[in-house]
Amino acid sequence: MSANGNSPASSMLNAQRVVVMKFGGTSVEDAIAIHRTAEIVQGRLNHGLLPFVVVSAMAKVTDFLLAAADAAGRGERAGSLAISARLRGRHLDTAGKLVAASSVHALSSRVHAEFDALDELLRGIVAVGELTPRTTDLVVSFGERLSSIVVAAAFAAVGVPGEHLDARECIVTDAEFGRAVPLEAEIANRLQKHAVPLLLTGHVPVMGGFIGATEQGITTTLGRGGSDFSAALVGGGLHAGAIEIWTDVDGIMTTDPRICADALRVKTVSFEEAAELAYFGAKVLHPATILPAVQQNIPVYVLNSRNPASEGTRITAVAPPCRSPFKCIAVKKRLTIVDIVASRMLMSHGYLKAVFDVFDKHRVVIDMVSTSEVSISVTVDTSDRLPAIAEDLRKIADVKYESNKALICMVGEDIRGHNGIAGKVFTAVEHVNVRMISQGASEINMSFMIEEEDVPEAVRSLHEAFFTNPDRAIFDVEAREQESLVQI
Ligand code: ASP
Ligand code: MG
Repeated sequence: MSANGNSPASSMLNAQRVVVMKFGGTSVEDAIAIHRTAEIVQGRLNHGLLPFVVVSAMAKVTDFLLAAADAAGRGERAGSLAISARLRGRHLDTAGKLVAASSVHALSSRVHAEFDALDELLRGIVAVGELTPRTTDLVVSFGERLSSIVVAAAFAAVGVPGEHLDARECIVTDAEFGRAVPLEAEIANRLQKHAVPLLLTGHVPVMGGFIGATEQGITTTLGRGGSDFSAALVGGGLHAGAIEIWTDVDGIMTTDPRICADALRVKTVSFEEAAELAYFGAKVLHPATILPAVQQNIPVYVLNSRNPASEGTRITAVAPPCRSPFKCIAVKKRLTIVDIVASRMLMSHGYLKAVFDVFDKHRVVIDMVSTSEVSISVTVDTSDRLPAIAEDLRKIADVKYESNKALICMVGEDIRGHNGIAGKVFTAVEHVNVRMISQGASEINMSFMIEEEDVPEAVRSLHEAFFTNPDRAIFDVEAREQESLVQI
């Protein structure tokens, strides 16, 4: 094989037609969801594309498997096996609804074989009395192993040529269990060997996300939520034309539609903007996980499997220029502001470090910092550890803290080069008490703290100020117009 991975097989594969489709836990949670997934994949086939499907474990299964592993580690044999028994029932039940009577037996036997292996493993953990990260990875790997087997069979049953592909043959990683690092060059080789022949013969590979294996074949995982990462690795390794992350929201919205009914779908954001938003737990995806795709300029789409007609949000390395300075207004609630006023040490050398060390000691992450001559204000998203933190801080400072605060963060690449934006932002929220203003180092966000109770008013005014006449190339204004037509 040549250095750029062009085997004879890959030179025949039109990589641009490959679309990696990742379906999250809710998109494969039961038979109805899996049917919907099959239809979506069929739609891509109808368009002449070559889908490669990556699935998460069925919703909540990873949590249950972790609970089973923990119970086994504590020696609770019956409790641990009971969790596994319930999962076995759920998978068998789903499988039974998805395939024809003639193939139920074959699929059930496969599901049983996986659960028999899982039970043996759980009994082993109880016997040894120790749960290592390596064993935990092996236990949780059953979630994606099972979902991919069931989904591949369900596809075949409705005429989608699904073919199960064991992730452990393709996603090669190091041995850092629980958060393994993928070895991208080796992954590309393995995909050439195991996936390309399937794609070339008209099959739809169906692979579990999240899991991988070391070069020696020891099972690993990429960390929680790792299926998006798997999809990006496959897309990167195959030089795919696109990656689709199917979830249960319509993509990225200008703001939370529960707060502001006028929220619009954002058609495109840049990778940097998505990264900024991820911090707010925007229910989309963690951008670091799509880096392998972005580095190769492969567009990533966030799409809704409950509303497949919606075009979702496209995430690209460089966003097209936008007439509106902001793409989104993100909100993070339940924050606490801690004001730390230097008493004796008066910001002496090493003072900031001493302050941050206290937060570090209590394992509390600081969101935002602002400083003046003698005081530091920080925000944190916990309140239960604050009394202990305050007690430690009081050895070097006067400390006050106030809870029930919210952070408003306005994100957009096009703030750069727009004048007077800050003025417009603060005019929009002039009735609200604003604290701790900051413009992120990345220069693509503007953030400030307000009272939690002021969130609805602030968000609505900001939305009105910035999204009343938005750039139609970037925001889905048509949906809003259609809705108002319906109301008339
Ligand atoms: N099933 C794994 C998790 O729940 C991975 C994923 O869904 O992305 O974390
Ligand atoms: Mg996820």
